[in-house]
Amino acid sequence: MYLKLYDKIAKNYQKGFKLKLFAVFGNPIKHSKSPLMHNNAFMNLNIDARYIKILLEDGKKLKEVFKKLQLSGANVTVPFKENAYELADEIRGVAKEIGAINTLVLENDKLIGYNTDADGFLKAIDCFNAKEILILGAGGTSKAISTILSQNDFNITVLNRSDSRLEYFKDKNFNAKNWNELDNFEFDLVVNTTSAGLNDDNLPAPKEILEKLFKNAKFAFDCIYKETEFLKLAKKSDLKVKNGSDMLLYQGVIAFDIFTKNEFSQDKIAKYMREALENFR
Ligand code: NDP
Repeated sequence: MYLKLYDKIAKNYQKGFKLKLFAVFGNPIKHSKSPLMHNNAFMNLNIDARYIKILLEDGKKLKEVFKKLQLSGANVTVPFKENAYELADEIRGVAKEIGAINTLVLENDKLIGYNTDADGFLKAIDCFNAKEILILGAGGTSKAISTILSQNDFNITVLNRSDSRLEYFKDKNFNAKNWNELDNFEFDLVVNTTSAGLNDDNLPAPKEILEKLFKNAKFAFDCIYKETEFLKLAKKSDLKVKNGSDMLLYQGVIAFDIFTKNEFSQDKIAKYMREALENFR
């Protein structure tokens, strides 16, 4: 059913208007702000392109839909980042280590995969003067963030509720612990990459652990893009805090930069994407 709909969109956009077409794949996808960000940048930079959302049922169909729609590039969100990594013809940059991608671009008929979440995070914490970093959570986002931080010489520890997901980090010789094993509470920055707080008021770790961490820390960052209970608690301890909206912004800016082959300055792209995030719903 979706393929028929995509076909129609592709014909309209590409035969009628000769536009380049981009998309974001995910499930669910309704909430995605990527079309707002990319379309506002395309419009203001006078690029003949449109960016749409695609609800994908089966991650294995991603390549087929990409080709059928004659997309020039795409972003990939939960839960298809690993699928996209598997089906890309070539992987570039930090994505090779992470094993998941969020950006695909067509180059000489090949699908090239990148991970811009990692670089987007790095740019988002640029304003924090931190060296010792504690990462809460051991899922996909934690893999991306810990990899880019260790490549950039930050000292990192990964803390997770349960043990099984910590294996990936231990295999890479990262300091990785469960809640009962943490014995050092001296970090400059504490980052929440868990989904606690996304659709509830949960904290990503027991309150006693967080309060102990916040006594020494200067900064707290939450990948979720709203003020969570985690950030509220950090603020009570006078930490400088930031939610995930800049990470969302910069992963988009870097993806756009890849889509448009470095033709525009990232500051200019960020200006239009930020404008879309602040003014449109
Ligand atoms: P995953 O499902 O891969 O990982 C979830 C992690 O959260 C696991 O380590 C899990 O621990 C932990 N967790 C879940 N619930 C709780 C809880 N109640 N208490 C403590 N730990 C918990 O998720 P992702 O890495 O894909 O995404 C994580 C978050 O990052 C999401 O909220 C997502 O919205 C956000 N995100 C933001 C981006 C941005 O641009 N701002 C980009 C990408 C993601 P366990 O192993 O014990 O189950």
